[in-house]
Amino acid sequence: MKVSKYLKKSVVELSPYSSARDEYAGDNALLLDANENAFNFQYNRYPDPYQRKLKNKIAEWRGIDARSIFLGNGSDEVIDLLIRSVCTPGKDRILSLDPSYGMYQVSAAINEVDMDLVKLNLNLKLNRSVLFEKLSSNHKLVFICSPNNPNGGMIDTEIIEELLVRSKGLVVVDEAYIDFSNAISWIERLAEYDNLIVLQTMSKSLGAAGLRIGMAFMHPELVKALNKVKPPYNISIPSQEAALRRLDQLDAVDQSIGEIISERSRVRSCLEKMAIVKHVYVSCANFILVRFDHAEEIFSELKLRKIIVRNRTKERGCEGCLRITIGRRIDNDFLINTLLEIEKMKYK
Ligand SMILES: *Cc1c(COP(=O)(O)O)cnc(C)c1O
Repeated sequence: MKVSKYLKKSVVELSPYSSARDEYAGDNALLLDANENAFNFQYNRYPDPYQRKLKNKIAEWRGIDARSIFLGNGSDEVIDLLIRSVCTPGKDRILSLDPSYGMYQVSAAINEVDMDLVKLNLNLKLNRSVLFEKLSSNHKLVFICSPNNPNGGMIDTEIIEELLVRSKGLVVVDEAYIDFSNAISWIERLAEYDNLIVLQTMSKSLGAAGLRIGMAFMHPELVKALNKVKPPYNISIPSQEAALRRLDQLDAVDQSIGEIISERSRVRSCLEKMAIVKHVYVSCANFILVRFDHAEEIFSELKLRKIIVRNRTKERGCEGCLRITIGRRIDNDFLINTLLEIEKMKYK
């Protein structure tokens, strides 16, 4: 298995826990193998550990082989499983961007794996040479979030291509927000790079954050390795069923995405006209990062009026910035009117 070079030796050699449901995948059998209570409750049985039905549906939807799909209890579980399967603490390192999604750092720290950060420039863009100055053969895992959280900018295709070639380890492209952009998914490039992992989620564009379903697309041998490391029943039956139902509603999903995208440009132009707003970052996601004069005060004033936005003022590169999720038109109107009121009351 040539992709085993990307994994910890202990994971390659691991013989996994064999769950009862590993041994039989058919229907209509008398199940006396898993110590379940057979008496009358809808959820008395363990779920399919490999989520076959759901993966087949995702495969059809995303146009990919089901064997290339791994599902986690949210992307956050996938991030943790990847770190644990790839990095030996005290030896291997992780590389990511700054600022970017906070869970990479938290998960690395929990697993005691050291992390290096590549600073984005003043416009929160990734500079090619700054990245490759940092990249070393100790980086067994690189997390690239595109569109990037918290600013919503895309990472250049050419930089990621070069990274996939030059990296000695796995490159994870986190596409949590890809459906709000017009970019082509890196899923299309999986056959070219055996070290590419594409992360997506049902939490954002599919409007199903409560289900906790993270989708990861990768070489089938890497899926097999993660299957050995994951908890056997990591996605519950109600979550698998609700996810299947959500994938029957893709017309409604697409319509909501279209509305969010058009609201994103409307909110942007309203914000750009305000005196309290210094800069609105270009976003390909369902949020916008906004630099304010008096950001902390504005955050508190919004909160007093029960509008909660994300305070990013303490993140490097995001000084004075609040991250605002694009809601429904009515929600966005409430936000804009409230900001205008705060502006008039305090800063005019
Ligand atoms: C929201 C988000 C996720 C999704 O995490 P889930 O655990 O699937 O809800 C992953 N990556 C990024 C960058 C995100 O912003």
